Formats: sequence, structure tokens, C-alpha cells
Amino acid sequence: MGKALESIADLIKKVDVVIEVLDARLPSSSSNHQLQALRRTKPWVKVLNKPDLADPAVTAAWLKQFKSETGVSAVAISAKKQLEVKKLIKLCKELSPRNGRLGFPTRVMVVGIPNVGKSTLINTMAGRSLAKVGDKPAITTVNQRIELDGIVLSDTPGVLWPEMDDQEGAYRLAASGAIGANALDYHTVGLFAAEYLMRRYPELLKSRYKVAELSESPSALIEEIGRSLGCLIAGGEIDLNRASEAFLRELRAGKIGRISFEEPSLSQEVDS
Ligand code: GDP
Repeated sequence: MGKALESIADLIKKVDVVIEVLDARLPSSSSNHQLQALRRTKPWVKVLNKPDLADPAVTAAWLKQFKSETGVSAVAISAKKQLEVKKLIKLCKELSPRNGRLGFPTRVMVVGIPNVGKSTLINTMAGRSLAKVGDKPAITTVNQRIELDGIVLSDTPGVLWPEMDDQEGAYRLAASGAIGANALDYHTVGLFAAEYLMRRYPELLKSRYKVAELSESPSALIEEIGRSLGCLIAGGEIDLNRASEAFLRELRAGKIGRISFEEPSLSQEVDS
């Protein structure tokens, strides 16, 4: 077991419920699979965050799959929305083995890879700004014990890195913005995202870029987007890196539409 995982395993022993925050657009690639080894030790809630950016039908399929796993509860809620987070707090209390025992608040720990929304969730839970929230992957820090309404939040959110051994998974993480721009270059990730969207969400692309027919290839699509956005270099050529960056910015902000990067596969439907 790696050092980070070991310290998370120790912290997990001290809590009643674990909240694992995932990105609803890529619930498999945004999870750390080593963490799953610790899952059966505690009630486990998978939060599919950023559901506003994900394809609702695909999110529903993920929820169905996760709920079929032993000891797992799953919800798709936005960490930014107070009312939805309140429901999550209620769920944690219900799941706690200490549920209802006076003077025994439910101890909760939030875990997840960078940029999935752990700090946002902690801040919404606390009703004030405690954890550092950012757009770029970073280590979350909270230096205060957070106690509220029958819940105590572990002061160390568990941060684990995504596993990058699967290249497709790494591209999905980069396309969603979960891993930094310098990990993979914009044009490579842009081409990957363009190819995926042309195949899976062609209508959303047509409507965003106001075209009746899509370009014949991902690279032609990036070029067209670059041309329409004025991403040019000397001589009138398209700056493919800037065009890809602009395309990815739109994709990550949800401007192209609600897009999921992965669906549950049949092999994952049974609890392993
Ligand atoms: P952490 O690294 O896991 O602590 O992630 P942060 O809490 O810093 O969030 C990363 C980014 O995701 C920030 O820009 C947040 O504003 C954004 N974010 C968090 N929750 C949501 C959500 O439900 N919807 C959307 N669209 N963005 C969110």
C-alpha cells in the first residue's frame, strides 16, 4: 500500500462514513481504484459531483450500477448547492452506525482525486469558506475542525492521485480538466475530445458551432473552431494549440452541452 493510501486508511478507521467525491462525467477514471480496497470497512457514499456538466441519462446509469455494489450509497448532487448537500448530510447520519446516539456526532471523511470538488463540498457543508477551491488540480487543505448539525468532518480530506496507467482514462481526465494542461498537450487532448464528441454527441457539436454537417475529421473540426475563433498565427495559419485550448475550455465549462466521458460497462455491473 502506498504512503498516501496508508494514511487515508488510518484516517478512515476514525470515521463513521466515507464520502468519495467523483466527477459525474467520468466516475471510473476519476476514482482511485486502490481506494476501493478500503471500501468495505465503512459505509461509503459515492458523490457524483458536477452533475450539471454530465449527460443525465449516463449519470442515472452510473447511479444504478453503484447502488448495486455492496455497502455503497450513491448520489448525484452538486457540491455547490446547499439544499442538495443538506440531503447528503442527512444520508451520512442515517448510514452511521452511531445514528441517533446523543452526543455522538457522525464522523465523516471526504476523499477523492484533485479537482473533483472536495473543497467545494466541505465549504458548502460548513456553510463558510474553509477549504481552498481552485480550478487547477491542487492539494486541499483545511485547518479547522468542522462541526455542524450532528456531523464532524475529518480535518484532512483524503487526496489521492488518479491512476494514469490507462491512456484513454488519462485523456478523459485531461479533457475534463481534472489533470493539468501540462500533463498532456492541448492539441493531443483536443483531438481526443473532438473524436469522442463527433462519435457520441454530434448533435451538440452541430448546434454549438452552428453547422449542418460536421467536419470530416477531428483535426478538421479543431481547425474550423480555430478559424471561427480567430486563433491564427502569422501567414493566416490556424494555431492548433490555441484552437484546441479554446475548444477544451468550452467543453469543460459545459458550453457544448452536458457531456459524459464514460459509461458503465457490462463487466462493471456486477460487484467484484
Ligand atoms: P478539489 O480539488 O477536489 O478540492 O476541488 P475544488 O472544490 O477545488 O473544485 C474544483 C473546481 O470544480 C472548482 O472550479 C469548482 O468551482 C468546480 N466545481 C465544484 N463543484 C461543482 C459542480 O457541482 N458543478 C460545476 N460545474 N463545477 C463545480
